[in-house]
Amino acid sequence: MTSTALLEPVVDHRTRGAALQVDLTAIAENTRLLADRAGGALMAVVKADGFGHGAARVARTALRNGASWLGVTSLEEAVALRLDGITAPVLSWLNPVDVPFRQALVHDIDVAVPGPEHLAVVAAAARRAGKPARVHLHLDVGLARDGAAPLAWARLCHAARRAERDGTVRVLGVMGHLACADEPGHPANAAGRERFAWGVAVARRHGLRPPLRHLAATSATLTDPLSRHTLCRVGAGLVGIDPTGTTALRGAMTLTAPVVSIREAGAGTPVGYGHQWTAARATRLALLPLGYADGVPRCASGVAEVAVHGRRCPVVGRISMDQVVVDVGALPVAVGDVATVFGPGGHGEPTIADWAAWSGTIPHEIVTGIGARVHR
Ligand SMILES: *Cc1c(COP(=O)(O)O)cnc(C)c1O
Repeated sequence: MTSTALLEPVVDHRTRGAALQVDLTAIAENTRLLADRAGGALMAVVKADGFGHGAARVARTALRNGASWLGVTSLEEAVALRLDGITAPVLSWLNPVDVPFRQALVHDIDVAVPGPEHLAVVAAAARRAGKPARVHLHLDVGLARDGAAPLAWARLCHAARRAERDGTVRVLGVMGHLACADEPGHPANAAGRERFAWGVAVARRHGLRPPLRHLAATSATLTDPLSRHTLCRVGAGLVGIDPTGTTALRGAMTLTAPVVSIREAGAGTPVGYGHQWTAARATRLALLPLGYADGVPRCASGVAEVAVHGRRCPVVGRISMDQVVVDVGALPVAVGDVATVFGPGGHGEPTIADWAAWSGTIPHEIVTGIGARVHR
């Protein structure tokens, strides 16, 4: 055996194994719609590998279709975009206080600052780098999660203004994030908007002049003009998820898997771990090589379906780590045929929203949960 034979791929990703296809034209179209709604600037949020769709690919597609900013959670995600050659402005908003903020200065990455501890370490990194850090002050407007609590806000603004005077930071933005924007009439939205306006006013009173004020994510961008300000940060909407159910966005993911084997099963045949399902009549069972390790939620056992030849077929028995069994009945399904686990929904296949409903979660968790073993 030659050494090159050892390097040959075990599977051909085009034809074998579970495969995830991402439709960048859908992402382009969603971006254009969201940019139009945003009015001001649009930030494409590509955290969690672009909601499972590939961070760099989603980023480039969004930047070509109306987005001018990128947003991610961690500095590490932001640096990865830079190493991929992306030069657009990038904001990272959630980092432990001891990450190497030097990297933000080296790679021209904006960072959100939730409190004086972060401001101090970012300013110290800037002093060492010899150039000001680009920061966005993050105010908690009602999630009680990330961002400065209102009681700590004035102190943060004061410290930020001092750091601006020192030349160690430039405050480019004030940001907030709404808790209930997917319910447009929820009173927390007005309260969040008011708290944000108060936060901007306090920042100004401390002498700060942040050119960017950003509060809206996908839901508010779609439904709440009062939240849009100068920049909207959208993630879910780019990949076709509309948490408000008001807007036709296009799903961008299709997950397929080939039929590995087919067996005839007589009436009364129990299937899978725990024998949770038993064939009521003689049927044919197709085996697909993916399971919960690949992002097919185990808790959808008993209710989920996949499409084979455009027809819905029930997933039967428990979803296991690496395999699911599909009752294909009398459909002319053969070994090597390809089943569609989910897709945009145009050809009778289940959608991501269907899988979310079957597993008691939201589409975001389905798209970000696709396992590393699935070929992209
Ligand atoms: C994830 C996230 C967003 C994007 O939210 P979507 O609802 O997916 O558009 C915006 N801002 C912050 C702070 C986030 O964590």
